[in-house]
Amino acid sequence: MGKIKKILNSKWTFAAAGVLCLGMAVSRFLKYELCEDAVYQPQNISSIEQVIKEQRDFLEKVPPFKAGSFQSEQKAVEIFKTQIKSKLENFLEIPETKTPPIHSDFPDPMNLFFACAYGAMGLLMAYEALKKLKKPSQEMKRTGMHIIPFFGCSLLSVYFFLNIPGFISDNSYNGISKAVSISYDNNEFFKIDTPEKLSMALTHEITHYLQDKYHFKNNSTLSEGHAIGVARNLGRMLYKETGNPDFLAVQKAEQRYFVSVYLEMCKKFGVKPNKDLIKGIEPVNIGGHSLGAALFALKEAQFGDKIYRDVLRGDYSELFGSSENGNNQK
Ligand SMILES: [Zn+2]
Repeated sequence: MGKIKKILNSKWTFAAAGVLCLGMAVSRFLKYELCEDAVYQPQNISSIEQVIKEQRDFLEKVPPFKAGSFQSEQKAVEIFKTQIKSKLENFLEIPETKTPPIHSDFPDPMNLFFACAYGAMGLLMAYEALKKLKKPSQEMKRTGMHIIPFFGCSLLSVYFFLNIPGFISDNSYNGISKAVSISYDNNEFFKIDTPEKLSMALTHEITHYLQDKYHFKNNSTLSEGHAIGVARNLGRMLYKETGNPDFLAVQKAEQRYFVSVYLEMCKKFGVKPNKDLIKGIEPVNIGGHSLGAALFALKEAQFGDKIYRDVLRGDYSELFGSSENGNNQK
């Protein structure tokens, strides 16, 4: 016990933890930056205008979405299994795949476990940080390095807390339990209140499961862009087949992703945005979802929907110009 305490109090332990956190943050930033470089190119301004126009024209002809019926989540699972699953496999050109466990009534136990464990670790690290600031150990006092363990603990505490929402967010895929969680959602960004809308959120999460199965690159911007693009294509297929506009509901929210990236692009290259094109579409803060969605939509417009199959097999040449760039990011 004494030994463990000694290790926990050592400045080297915390310096190592700090370097690890920093390393993870830098690697995440570099992966994001790679996608930014591919999207923020002057020639992409007119391309993304085309993407926004095409989607706008398409959605304008679609009848209004249905009002919330909040039927059982199982209805969405049924829609996925009977109407979407085989189309998804055909679209991605993959063999028939077993559907992963889908949690709806009760959260994925693994998600709950991780949320609690991260919460507990976050609290413990916050407590340790305070303790180290107030009562530095003998060694720390002697070397005057007590500030390193303090920052180490604080950083770890923030890291653990920041990870909690990912485990308890409503619609998610857990890479450890290999299970999907779905639930209706009433948020203002995207209302998921009918089984058809929920089946599209489920398609997005199942795409994450397939990415995992096919060893997709460990890059959240790419995996979100890919899942959004796949679900958009499937949504359009289902709308065409059934005439039910709810399969397209998520695409209303995606318009906001594209517009946000477009406005950022205009700002970067000093171009005046086309106000008529983006009228009535509220921008959002740009993050992995919006940047990834824009990257895949731009490349889909250029190379067609084969990009979704290519990246699933590890070929990133269309996204980044050369397969080497893509392979470097793991
Ligand atoms: Zn996602």
